[in-house]
Amino acid sequence: MSVRKITEYPEKVLAKIGKPVEVFDDELETLCADMFETMYAAEGVGLAAQQIGLSLRLFVMDCEGVKLVAANPEIIAEEGEQTSQEGCLSIGKVPAVVVRAEKAVLRAQNSKGEWFEREAEGYAARCFQHETDHCDGKLFIDHLPKMRRDMVVKRFTKEKKWK
Ligand SMILES: [Zn+2]
Repeated sequence: MSVRKITEYPEKVLAKIGKPVEVFDDELETLCADMFETMYAAEGVGLAAQQIGLSLRLFVMDCEGVKLVAANPEIIAEEGEQTSQEGCLSIGKVPAVVVRAEKAVLRAQNSKGEWFEREAEGYAARCFQHETDHCDGKLFIDHLPKMRRDMVVKRFTKEKKWK
């Protein structure tokens, strides 16, 4: 297992729709193990393939007891609304308030290719939505009004310069 380098905004791969995962083999298991390792090292609760530079519909998460690998993820149902702060490892964890569905049902394949459905609420549901967005080439800042989006990007760019 190894910790991979995290892809940061505005690298192009983050804005591209990922390719479907078609092969469920040992290589994919290793990739998922690396993604978990990378996510834990960065103290994140979710990580999509885009965030290590791969244009693939794949993410891993470990958030409030919901630990899973999701290949070819889709949000098939949503309910309610939640408004709270969100951040992204690819944008230096600069936080911003994002409105999301309070409950979400995720449909995806595990690392063996078996389909499953999982329901979550609160923070874990937010994570489903954030990571599925990554697979569709979408970032959390794409949900923000332009002015707030610019503020997040500006702060991220500034903090990066000091590192
Ligand atoms: Zn993210």
